[in-house]
Amino acid sequence: MSAWIEHAVPVLYLLSAVLFIIGLKGLTKVRSARRGNMIAAIAMLIAVIATLLDLGLIDYRWILAGMIVGGGIGTVAALKVEMTAMPEMVALFNGSGGGASALVASAIIWLEIIEPAHSGSAASVLGGSNALTAFLSILIGSVTLSGSVVAFLKLSGRLRGRPGWLKARNMINSVVMIAAIAIGLYQTYGAGDPAAIVTWTLALTGVGLFLGIILVLPIGGADMPVVISLLNSLSGVAAAATGFVLDNNVLIIAGALVGASGLILTQIMCKAMNRTLGHVLFADFGDDAPSVGDTEYSNVRSFSAEEAAMVLEDAASVIIVPGYGLAVAQAQHMVREMADLLAARGAKIAYGVHPVAGRMPGHMNVLLAEADVPYEQLQEMDRINPEFKTTDVVLVVGANDVVNPAAETQPSSPIYGMPILRVAEARTVIMLKRSLSPGYAGVKNELFEHDNTMMLFGDAKQSLQDLVKELRELTA
Ligand code: NDP
Repeated sequence: MSAWIEHAVPVLYLLSAVLFIIGLKGLTKVRSARRGNMIAAIAMLIAVIATLLDLGLIDYRWILAGMIVGGGIGTVAALKVEMTAMPEMVALFNGSGGGASALVASAIIWLEIIEPAHSGSAASVLGGSNALTAFLSILIGSVTLSGSVVAFLKLSGRLRGRPGWLKARNMINSVVMIAAIAIGLYQTYGAGDPAAIVTWTLALTGVGLFLGIILVLPIGGADMPVVISLLNSLSGVAAAATGFVLDNNVLIIAGALVGASGLILTQIMCKAMNRTLGHVLFADFGDDAPSVGDTEYSNVRSFSAEEAAMVLEDAASVIIVPGYGLAVAQAQHMVREMADLLAARGAKIAYGVHPVAGRMPGHMNVLLAEADVPYEQLQEMDRINPEFKTTDVVLVVGANDVVNPAAETQPSSPIYGMPILRVAEARTVIMLKRSLSPGYAGVKNELFEHDNTMMLFGDAKQSLQDLVKELRELTA
């Protein structure tokens, strides 16, 4: 390797690591998120170039083929995916990250021990810490891969219900976890020849994949956002472990950043759903099936778009609360048009965004950013909640669980304790949804029966179109 490359590579890695951190910082604010994403992508490009320079003379055909196949799949997936299917795609991407880390660690074992037919344990050939991190990378990567596939199947509705062995889940999980660690330690220190190392590496991969399945399978759909964040964090930890195996600083740093930020997000999601991580992973909760209970309604008052528009016409302050139905109806542009119209008439506009509204962390923010909703109008739950008391109209667009007062009033409700947007405190609540069907948690929403609630039934986009039309007519 020429001298300049030897000097340039660490500088490029350092630059890339700094850019990753700046990019991540950008992602903490809606306003700077797009720029943050772009900076992180440039950081990744620099890291790839530095790695290729570092590797020197290698056969680029495989790399090119991998880039074409991987890049092609990624591009098609990103272009074709519906906004409503974004959480499933995120789950699959997390899984791919974990799978890639496990494969790279396995490839190192293959290239450095099996192919040269070295005798001795993995720890004696690779060095103790490298062999140990290879084991961790394979185990955590495999758990992430299979766990993410199960999360994908659950989120897309292809897998529902709770397995029969749920009652014994903690015992089964503990036994498999202990078995995985024992196999990994034997693969690292015990197996003494290439054939045995291949066998135990395959066993480790198998038990890791099995562990991922049984860990995620019993977790109910309502807790999926927490699981997705946790799997995201695990994919980072697996990548960092692979960084140690490869002795690649930028991979260690990038993996640690993903691991740490994923864990912080997991904590935020747990807080938003009023659960501890231990509760999500180990408690008998979060059922997929709608909870049995009263879902009959009385005193539901249905209104026309014209009547709702008349209420909006007089409103001096309006808070819009988006939920999953906004994504289904793809109503983000229409909601923006409606808000602009009200603002032009002098109304004060804000959007109240619940951390778990939709089906993935940040789901509503992504949709509203797509429609160029002004950032200063987006308010987080803690900031907007005190505002409802003094607000004329709250327009709930396809949200349900995140505004359900049962979370505060009914201790027997499965969502009891989950912080909600207190929309019921506003003078009038206009709810845009198609029917009286429950939300994701499957529970009755007594808000539909409140005296200050106006139900406007229909597809959210169509209802908003009707409201805009009526408001324009009222103004003309
Ligand atoms: P909900 O699932 O509680 O409610 C969405 C509502 O949207 C439904 O009641 C539905 O009613 C309505 N809807 C669906 N399609 C349309 C449409 N085209 N037009 C108008 N309305 C429509 O959503 P929320 O956002 O309030 O709450 C999110 C829930 O999802 C929480 O329980 C959360 O825990 C869970 N979750 C969140 C994840 C996350 O990361 N954010 C991930 C996984 C789950 P109707 O059918 O009558 O129209």
